[in-house]
Formats: sequence, structure tokens, C-alpha cells
Amino acid sequence: MAHDDLWEKSLTTIELSISKANFSTWFKNTCIISYINNHIVIGVPNGFAKEWLENKYQSYILKALREVEPSISSISCSVLSSDNNNIKSTTSINTSSKISPSFQTKSDNIKNTNSNLNTRYQFDTFIVGEYNELAKAACVAVSKNVGKVYNPLFIYGNVGLGKTHLLQSIGNAISKQNPTQRVLYTTSEKFTTELINSIKNGTAAQFKEQYKKIDLLIIDDVQFLSGKEKTQQEFFHIFNALYQSDKQIVISSDRPPKAINTLSDRLRSRFEGGMIVDIGAPDLETRIAILKEKVLQNNFYISNDSIQFIAENIKNNVRELEGALNRIIALCDLQKKEPTIQFIKSSLAELIESNQKRGVQANDILNTILKFYEISKEEIFSKTRKKTVVRPRQISMYFMRSELAMSYPGIGKYFGGRDHTTALHSYEKIKLLRKTDKKFSEELDYLLEKIYEV
Ligand code: ADP
Ligand code: MG
Repeated sequence: MAHDDLWEKSLTTIELSISKANFSTWFKNTCIISYINNHIVIGVPNGFAKEWLENKYQSYILKALREVEPSISSISCSVLSSDNNNIKSTTSINTSSKISPSFQTKSDNIKNTNSNLNTRYQFDTFIVGEYNELAKAACVAVSKNVGKVYNPLFIYGNVGLGKTHLLQSIGNAISKQNPTQRVLYTTSEKFTTELINSIKNGTAAQFKEQYKKIDLLIIDDVQFLSGKEKTQQEFFHIFNALYQSDKQIVISSDRPPKAINTLSDRLRSRFEGGMIVDIGAPDLETRIAILKEKVLQNNFYISNDSIQFIAENIKNNVRELEGALNRIIALCDLQKKEPTIQFIKSSLAELIESNQKRGVQANDILNTILKFYEISKEEIFSKTRKKTVVRPRQISMYFMRSELAMSYPGIGKYFGGRDHTTALHSYEKIKLLRKTDKKFSEELDYLLEKIYEV
């Protein structure tokens, strides 16, 4: 098997067994350099990744590799030079002797291979703020009344905001309450691959039958079904079979059903037939609360000021927040340093810079729009339907969504308690106009520049 193929398959397994943040921090830009005499050399971008992979993840890596190629007996890591060719140093570790039976049992506990559930994801470690409380409440309700309320439950929001965490928590809660319930977590990509493989192997009928026996089906990142007509058809049949026998279906996506291009109408209307909940971006208080929880989980000490500093500077999503903290923990560990604000600032310089570009607030958007269209605050917050006010209001709502990832209910609230559907409608409307009306689109680009100048 080609190195790339082998590594890609193994990464898929590793990704399921460790946190996303750790996965993206430590496995980014890695590759297999060589595979000789059952020994694998993994290329890593820097010394930190090398130490981290060798010390913390070697057992996971070896286990994942062996699932694909059982003869592999050991691994080592090498730091790649910037042109990704020269090997600067290699440390060989015979990992086969290091995998103790107890470790294997532990990792089996973490990941239930039949249901694809990872017990790391639980409701009680999921921090709630205004931006995600509805989503969590809906998930908890579903876990207590499988197939009886909100079916299907459709959760959507940008990456790294906790969708997978919530979906997996439902599965874990149900498996715990009633181990006889058949739970399956999968992604739409995995579903597609398995379906295609089963067709190739002539086992499609069994594949579909297996699905129809499930009590709770969780499909993550359903947007990837877009454009896959055949897969959508099969999924539609499975969906109907489950739905008609009151089995629970939970779905996530990075956008609402109506914004998934080339989703068949019948599937879309199925998705829209249940409960749809949106997750926006976490506010500062929630970001602080999340960091405090993660610090506790890691048995790490860090001052409140430092936590405040990280939370103020990493705003986009929880995955980045977690990644930032992991990086600091790792660096402190390796360099034997205290996590002072100065240290954090330099450790996270790159990440902070990319976040600063987005350091705009809802008020900045509003003020820019008011100035440009020469209308007053009173007008934009009023109920008036005057065209000269309605359009700027819609544009403000659009930017609050597109730039700040605010939730629709949050935007509605910002505009004096308007319904979230108004915010959703405004967003969709401006998005469409931006695509179809060139002049208008230029106006929006200009406004964006002004917003970020603030
Ligand atoms: P998504 O599926 O929306 O891209 P994830 O569920 O993978 O996001 O979340 C990214 C990371 O952030 C995960 O490690 C998850 O556990 C963590 N996370 C997200 N939201 C929360 C939260 N509200 N409380 C605690 N951890 C969270
Ligand atoms: Mg996810």
C-alpha cells in the first residue's frame, strides 16, 4: 500500500480516538517517510510535534497503523526540514514493547468501535452559554425521549463550535442509560464510502438492512452529501424506514438544510420536518468558562489573567481555543516555563494575529452601516418597513452572521427582540443578492473594508 494511503487510513482512526484540537495541533503536516522492515518513520514539522507524538501518541499511532498493516512493529519520528525532504534527526523507539495490555484496554474503552462513539464527549463536560444553550437543551431532550421529540434533530453551525461534541454526547448518554439500544455515529463521508464499498462488494442489501435496525442514527457533517445523488437516495430510504418506526435521527451540518446546495428536495423537506437548531459563536464569558473547564481536565495551573487573555484573543471557535490551550500546556511542559501572559503572547502570536483580523464587534458593523446609509440608530431598531431602512438592517444582520458567526436568535435579540427567522431571512436574502448583483456585491465589499478599518 502506498505510504499516503496507509497514513490517511490510520489518521482516520486516530482522529476518532483523540480530541479534534489535539489532532489538528499534532497531526497537521505529518506524513510517512519510510516503511522498511516493519518500521515506520513519520515525518513531523518540528521538534514539539516529534516529542509529543513519541511521548503521548505513539500507542495510538501504532494501533491505528496496525489496523491497516498488522505487521508493523515500531515507529519513530523525524523532523522534516522546511522543504519536507531532509531528515534532520531521527529517534527510534521500539513501540511494540511499550504498548501494554492495560493501555489497549483503556483505549478500547474510549472508543466503541461498533457505534463509533468516543466517551470523551459527554454532556457534563459541555459548557453552556447563550449561544449554544438551545442546541444543548434539544440534544438532552432527545437523549431522554429517543424518537419521541424533535425527530429529526438538525444542529448546524460553523466548524469547531461543538456539534460533534453534542451529537456524540447524545449517543453516549443513550448507550449508558440503555446499553441494548443500537446507536450509530457516522459522518456523511463515512456513510458514502461504506455505501460505495458495499455496492462494490455486493453487500449493499446487508449494509442497508444494518442501518434499518438502528435505534439512534447520528449523521455528522451532512453537508458533504451535497452533490451525491445516489447516496442521498439511499440515505432517504434509510431515513424513512427509521423515521416511520419512530427511531431517532440526529444530523449536523455547517449550514441550514435550505443552504445545502443540491440536496434533493425530498431530503431537505425531511430535514426541515423536525427541529432545527443553530449554534453561533461563544461570547467572552463562555470562552472563559470553557478554558477553565479544559484547564481542570488537564490538571494544569494557569492564572485567571492568563485565561482572560487567551479568551479575549482567541474568538473564532472552541476548537481554536482548545488548540491554543493545548499548545501552551505542551510548550510549558517541554520548555519548563510558567504560563505567564508574556509567554502566552509569544506562543500564540500567529493565532492571535489571525484572530485580530476578526476582532470586530456587532456595534462596529452597525455603526459602519448607519454612517454609510445615513440613517439613525432609532430608525434601524424601529419597526419601520421603509425600504431605505430595511435594506441596511438586512445588511447589518448579514454581516453579523457572516463575519461574527452570531446566532440568528442572537441577532434577533440585538435588534430589539426580533424573531430569529427575520435574521435568517435577511442573511439568506443578502447572500443571494451578493451572488447575483455585481454592483451590490461591490457595495458590500466596500462596507466590509470600512467595518474592518474601525
Ligand atoms: P464541530 O463538530 O462543531 O466542528 P467539535 O464538537 O468538534 O466542533 O468541537 C471542537 C472541540 O471543542 C472539541 O474538542 C469539543 O470537545 C470542544 N468544545 C466545543 N464546544 C464546547 C463546549 N461548549 N464546551 C466544552 N468543549 C467544547
Ligand atoms: Mg464536527
